[in-house]
Amino acid sequence: MTSLSSPTRFVRPERPAPPQAGQPGPQWKSELRDAVRDPAELARLLDLPGTWAESAREAARQFPLLAPRGYVRRMRPADPHDPLLRQVLPLADELRPAPGYSADPVGDAAATLTPGLLHKYQGRALMVTTGACAVHCRYCFRRHFPYSESPKGLAAWDEALAAIAADNSLHEVILSGGDPLTLVDPTLAALADRIAQVRHVARLRVHTRLPVMIPSRVNDELLAWLTGTRLTPIVVLHANHANELDVEAGRAVARLADAGVPLLNQAVLLRGVNDSVDAQAELCERLVDLRVMPYYLHQLDKVSGAAHFDTPIELGQAIIAELRGRLPGYAVPRLVREDAGAAGKTVIR
Ligand SMILES: *Cc1c(COP(=O)(O)O)cnc(C)c1O
Ligand code: SF4
Repeated sequence: MTSLSSPTRFVRPERPAPPQAGQPGPQWKSELRDAVRDPAELARLLDLPGTWAESAREAARQFPLLAPRGYVRRMRPADPHDPLLRQVLPLADELRPAPGYSADPVGDAAATLTPGLLHKYQGRALMVTTGACAVHCRYCFRRHFPYSESPKGLAAWDEALAAIAADNSLHEVILSGGDPLTLVDPTLAALADRIAQVRHVARLRVHTRLPVMIPSRVNDELLAWLTGTRLTPIVVLHANHANELDVEAGRAVARLADAGVPLLNQAVLLRGVNDSVDAQAELCERLVDLRVMPYYLHQLDKVSGAAHFDTPIELGQAIIAELRGRLPGYAVPRLVREDAGAAGKTVIR
């Protein structure tokens, strides 16, 4: 997830077979399969002009549109400036080259220990579990990588698990991607189990956008493995705007909180989406009301195609300063930037 900002070198996955229609499986799987992928359909669903779909199609050729229907329903119809729409909307702006922007802005190759495993942060190992996501965020630094919908088999992680076992300075494993929760629960349960067998690992962190994008993802099977090992689970969500956290998403998040899982959120500061004190204050308050601590507010990674989302550093600083005056201290996130080659996030003061 990226995070949005996960320092991962992508391991090119095998192209998966397209999913079969009517394939059985959990509810969230069918919602994922059924997500909107056609710009013309998105325009139709939201009452946007068809001309708009034409330029969207051009940008979507580079990085396909992907938006779950439940997420689209949280958007305001007929409003091309809707903050949720902007996050998934392919735009002609993406095709304009911008100086200082590149395909791999965080430069992580050097941190790769074994395929799919990164050791960049002290005491923490990051596993790239899949390239698939529930949504394609236009500002994602990984937008230039190919995405796969299929999990790699457990055997593919043997090498990574051996490397984790061999380094007893590692006390936390971070499941990243893509989005690890696009993998099915039996696979994740088996993976969590194998990580728990490594004595020096104490915590299992999951970086995911799924509980917000497809709330039905938080089901009994997920809670069972997440809270069923000796590892302390931590879930880092990714929501950028209060409108993303509707009643259903709130319910999914509450299930995680009720299960005792510590919850954090990371957001990206995005022009035209959440670049105001009001938008950030509303997001942070909604998060803490849901028992989620605002953790990071990321300055945009300079990835090609995302320049139109960039905001000046001073804006982020001013927003944080105002939030400190308005909100309880625990509700104010840290403003951070990912610098290539740095051993951790750079906090912007
Ligand atoms: C920043 C980041 C980390 C680093 O961990 P923190 O302890 O949260 O600073 C790990 N994974 C991802 C995806 C990140 O963006
Ligand atoms: S596309 Fe979105 S969900 Fe997927 S890794 Fe990037 S920021 Fe996270």
